[in-house]
Amino acid sequence: MSVTEPQTTSSEAARRHLLSPAEDMAKLGSAARPLLRHAEGIHLFDADGRALIDGPGGMWCSQIGYGRQEMADAIASQVMALPYNSPWHSINGPAAELARRIATLTPGDLDHIFFTTGGSTAVDSALRFVQYFNNVLERPAKKKILVRYRSYHGSTELAASCSPRPQASPFDTADPKIVVLSSPDARDRPAGMSEEEHGLALAAEFERVIAREGAETLGAFIAEPVQASGGVIVPPANYFALMRAICAQHDILFIADEVVTGFGRLGHWFASEAVMGIVPDLIVFAKGVTSGYVPMGGFAISDRILARVSGEHAKGRYFSNGYTYSGHPVAAAAALANIAIFEREEILAHVRAVAPHFQAGLRALRRYRLVTDVRGAGLVGCVECAGDDDAMKQAIGARVDRHCQELGLVVRPIVNNCVLSPPLIIKRAEIDQMMDILAKAIELTE
Ligand code: PLP
Repeated sequence: MSVTEPQTTSSEAARRHLLSPAEDMAKLGSAARPLLRHAEGIHLFDADGRALIDGPGGMWCSQIGYGRQEMADAIASQVMALPYNSPWHSINGPAAELARRIATLTPGDLDHIFFTTGGSTAVDSALRFVQYFNNVLERPAKKKILVRYRSYHGSTELAASCSPRPQASPFDTADPKIVVLSSPDARDRPAGMSEEEHGLALAAEFERVIAREGAETLGAFIAEPVQASGGVIVPPANYFALMRAICAQHDILFIADEVVTGFGRLGHWFASEAVMGIVPDLIVFAKGVTSGYVPMGGFAISDRILARVSGEHAKGRYFSNGYTYSGHPVAAAAALANIAIFEREEILAHVRAVAPHFQAGLRALRRYRLVTDVRGAGLVGCVECAGDDDAMKQAIGARVDRHCQELGLVVRPIVNNCVLSPPLIIKRAEIDQMMDILAKAIELTE
């Protein structure tokens, strides 16, 4: 059998039978997504065996990079020992151990961990906890969820409803329980307003919304430390402390969605305390917890919050939310191996050391006429390209992407925003290589 035969067969099978996320229905069966067979370190290899730097790190998840034997061994031995147990009726060792480990990594008293199958189900579960919490506390009206414009919290119906974006949605995700606040986006900051004043203005908007809706109707505020899919939006430095204080004042649960920022992206296990300077009530995580080797997500919750609805307070009510694969033993074993690699290789310290170089490289791209903005924090960044209207922006993003691919780099244009969140193990020289390719691709597009 020739090497190319299985490739051709897989491409043909995909063309005829595979529906992918964000499928272009107008071109059903003719989309040209590359077929990947192999990955090593920070590189993906295409069908011709050509190495491409994985700019987006999978989908912001390939923290420790690809091809780790230790991960394969941990997964294989757990498959042989216990590949599955029903989380509704039993527990497994790796999930229990992982809960203990994550509790040591989270800030404050966020010492209980609920596992799910990915980020969207983790967001859903956290939001369902808010419903449970307020039902048990006999505050049935306190259920509305405060979200920010340009957020992305997932693709289940509830998480998608919490993700108001500029792009028109083909789905019916409007939900009367959702209340939308402004994005803390510097591009929306009125001319002459300082960053600090912007933070204060956003907090004042929050207080106006609370006065309008009534605190007794507002259950939770959910926020990404950096609005990732929304275009890598980094809020004003004073923003989260102000928002946290307002939530605490009105007993609105503060949920940090750390699906992207958790597990090292900003140089810390979690960004909440180390970067945002706050301790939330719940932290949602996924992606980096297993570095994408197997699916897993979850949330960490404050003991203080749990105490209000546990024991006699629960009034006999179960938190009856969960999945067949909650705390899956193979995923938990992979997560434990992933965390061990982080610690042995001191990946968090490495991120903190190389992040300034990465951010400086991105900022240097401002020299191009085509580049209208550059944003980022830690090892996540975004280069925004010019474009008069949506169609032109889309076309420019696609052109930069195509040139990058030809030159050996995958980027992930979100319309005209080229997003980079490479594997956290990336070296300085590889960052330079990535920036050189991006610069050449921009020159070719200009
Ligand atoms: N929350 C954030 C901040 C995300 O970026 C994503 C996915 O990109 C999700 C939630 C949903 O995660 P998943 O795709 O694993 O369901």
